[in-house]
Amino acid sequence: MLDMTTKDVKVREALRVNPCKTCQPVGAMYAALGVAKCMPHSHGSQGCCSYHRTVLSRHFKEPAIASSSSFTEGASVFGGKSNLSTSAKNIFDMYNPDVIAVHTTCLSETIGDDLSSFIMDLELPDGKLVVHTNTPSYVGSHINGFFNMMIGFMNYLTKKTGTPTGKTAVFPGWVNPGDIRELKRIAAQMNVPAVFFPDQSGVLDAPMTGRYEFYPEGGTTLDEIRTLGDSDGLIALGEIIGVEPAEALNKKCKVPYTLLPLPVGVAYTDQYVLALRKQSRTEVPAALEEERGRLVDLMLDSSQYTSGKKVAIFGDPDIVIGLTSLALEMGMVPKYVITGTPKEEFTRKVTELFEKYGATDCKAKASADLFELHQWIKNEPVDLLIGSTYGKQIARAEDIPFIRAGFPVLDRYGGPLLPVVGYNGGVLLVEKIVGALLDKFDRTCAEEDFEIVL
Ligand code: SF4
Repeated sequence: MLDMTTKDVKVREALRVNPCKTCQPVGAMYAALGVAKCMPHSHGSQGCCSYHRTVLSRHFKEPAIASSSSFTEGASVFGGKSNLSTSAKNIFDMYNPDVIAVHTTCLSETIGDDLSSFIMDLELPDGKLVVHTNTPSYVGSHINGFFNMMIGFMNYLTKKTGTPTGKTAVFPGWVNPGDIRELKRIAAQMNVPAVFFPDQSGVLDAPMTGRYEFYPEGGTTLDEIRTLGDSDGLIALGEIIGVEPAEALNKKCKVPYTLLPLPVGVAYTDQYVLALRKQSRTEVPAALEEERGRLVDLMLDSSQYTSGKKVAIFGDPDIVIGLTSLALEMGMVPKYVITGTPKEEFTRKVTELFEKYGATDCKAKASADLFELHQWIKNEPVDLLIGSTYGKQIARAEDIPFIRAGFPVLDRYGGPLLPVVGYNGGVLLVEKIVGALLDKFDRTCAEEDFEIVL
């Protein structure tokens, strides 16, 4: 029996309590929404599709379009081939996308539907496409679904023609549209023509115009995906989410790649800027150096409030690694760092960060859950918690200042519009972190200390 009052933290292999991840199709759907005029399609029962759309819509506060093969008992027993062919016909007739991006679900994986052969047998309207990827939800997390869908698109579309595009491919990883805009802005500042794949900016942060667009303006175009193989190099961001699609493009088209951590904080943003400088062979512009300087100045100015403060960070692996690096740069102690995604590479990367900054007595764990994190915090408290909405119960129970970052953030507005990446994203994060710590101080300090701060 799990008990929150005991100091004894049990090792659990088969049970997750308050998981820190969701299932593969959510990631596949999010990746597909970053492709222009694409209809994500869930090959399974309607409930799965509803859940995946709901979690995306609640995070982005935007409609996340998707269709479903709508399995009933018959398809569950005899396979979903006819459901897929009826779906494809209806979707092209009614919604007219350029491409349908099919992902599987637990059910269609378990009965062994062969999507490759189903798709080969489809009769498609001229110029229309169907691509697919397998997303068994009992493997990995939504992070796997995201990169699997990227690889699915490249498997179907990307070729090396030998005519260079003169553009650098950038795989931004799982970030918000506000992050993609910031990454693009930095690439433009560095004078690097770039294709971002996938690109949800303009799709899941589309402006209010008074007219509903079923397919908003944004998204990587099919031609851009087709010509990724002729790119002038690839920068893949997010060492956990980026490695497999980068390897896939390299294997198929011999595009050399640079794999980097998500550019959160000073050091990791520097790495992104230096990779862009290598592509453009130009100097870093003064304006970008000034942005960096402003972030460093802010960190120094506020270090008296952050130095030595203990922080627990949880969420998806790449954003958590980035936030851990930023916390260490701010002189904080990342006491507990977890992800729900089962990737041991995560634990290794975070442990390397602890060693680099001389942080001792800190824990990193992949495939962890929020119950375990809560137990650790009960045994030895922290000063700050950073992660998705699902941390709010821990923050309330233990009265810990809480910064919402990562995915999903369901109970606040505006987050997907604001970057956490780049020097400017760093400024926004530092402002939030210091503000949260000082708000707690103001609430709990002695009267005389309150007067002094005023
Ligand atoms: S049944 Fe599988 S695919 Fe569907 S929502 Fe649940 S975990 Fe995800």
